[in-house]
Amino acid sequence: LLAEVTPSHLNHVFFTGSGSECNDTVLRMVRHYWASKGQPEKQVIISRHNAYHGSTVAGASLGGMKGMHAQGGLPIPGIVHIDQPYHFGEGQGMSAHEFGLARARQLEEKIQELGVDQVAAFIGEPIQGAGGVIIPPDSYWPEIQRICDKYGILLIADEVICGFGRTGHWFASEGFGIKPDLMCLAKGITSGYLPMGAVMVGDRVAKVLVEEGGEFNHGFTYSGHPVACAVAIANITLMQNESIVKRVHDSIGPYLQRRWAELADHPLVGETRGKGLVAALEIVQDKQTNSRFPAELQAGMTCREFCFNNGLVMRAVGDTMIISPPLVITEEQVDELVNLARLSLDLTAAKLRG
Ligand SMILES: *Cc1c(COP(=O)(O)O)cnc(C)c1O
Repeated sequence: LLAEVTPSHLNHVFFTGSGSECNDTVLRMVRHYWASKGQPEKQVIISRHNAYHGSTVAGASLGGMKGMHAQGGLPIPGIVHIDQPYHFGEGQGMSAHEFGLARARQLEEKIQELGVDQVAAFIGEPIQGAGGVIIPPDSYWPEIQRICDKYGILLIADEVICGFGRTGHWFASEGFGIKPDLMCLAKGITSGYLPMGAVMVGDRVAKVLVEEGGEFNHGFTYSGHPVACAVAIANITLMQNESIVKRVHDSIGPYLQRRWAELADHPLVGETRGKGLVAALEIVQDKQTNSRFPAELQAGMTCREFCFNNGLVMRAVGDTMIISPPLVITEEQVDELVNLARLSLDLTAAKLRG
């Protein structure tokens, strides 16, 4: 069933119990792949600052969260980070297009700096979720794909948040035109009702592992747990039968995005952005310059408290507010969501501006 819903070149599955376990699995799998091909020195995995890939040792190391690296002696060796494609936060003075290309080309510079004979793979979330719903400029992913192809390094898409319809495609890789060699899945695989993860393995990697890799000495007690699989099958089948992804793509996603974009006129909002049923807005002090409130005012956390107290689950990542509502949300509920977001922004503005 997973081979059916994922892109056509992904036909092998390594089951795990979570998204973090997927990323620990891909770290070992890509190194084992290159070793099996007689290039054991290809070890380095390139990731991005402010990426989120989980809380296990490899997951948190592949991730680029400073607060996580500061605890427990991370990252482990053999992982390097380049800058993220966060245009609003880091791309002042550049068009989104130029900025996307510049950030993608850091991958090429890093490969050249390290030497392609040392580099195993690049890993990225199609849209960074936990990092603040960072949607790369359209120029970014095609350039990343071009660089991975040019140097022959593996491309890993961490679709743990983006997968299973969130962006209006079954997998965000399809929407961005990415052809990943490995894809990490969890969360939406069971709609969160039971813990489960899966690494989708592309034909190119699977062939080498099967023909030359021998036994892959890796596995979890709960890999492919039958109860989790039963829930995943029920979930995916229901998504297919009720055309939930198509509904996100064709109607409820565009409706949410249209309504969400109206918040851009709010005096606290420097930018709104989103895709499908995931969205973010940036709280700023000054809409002309997009400057932030002083950190000690905790603008994002202040807004989050007003949201929670008024019945809206909206998270704060710094001063970026993010939402990820259920895929079955109705138009009336979207209206309620947007109204509560505006109310919370009004209350935040009143509090911060005194
Ligand atoms: C949530 C998440 C993970 C970690 O998954 P867990 O099931 O919490 O271990 C990894 N990658 C991404 C992109 C995530 O959003």
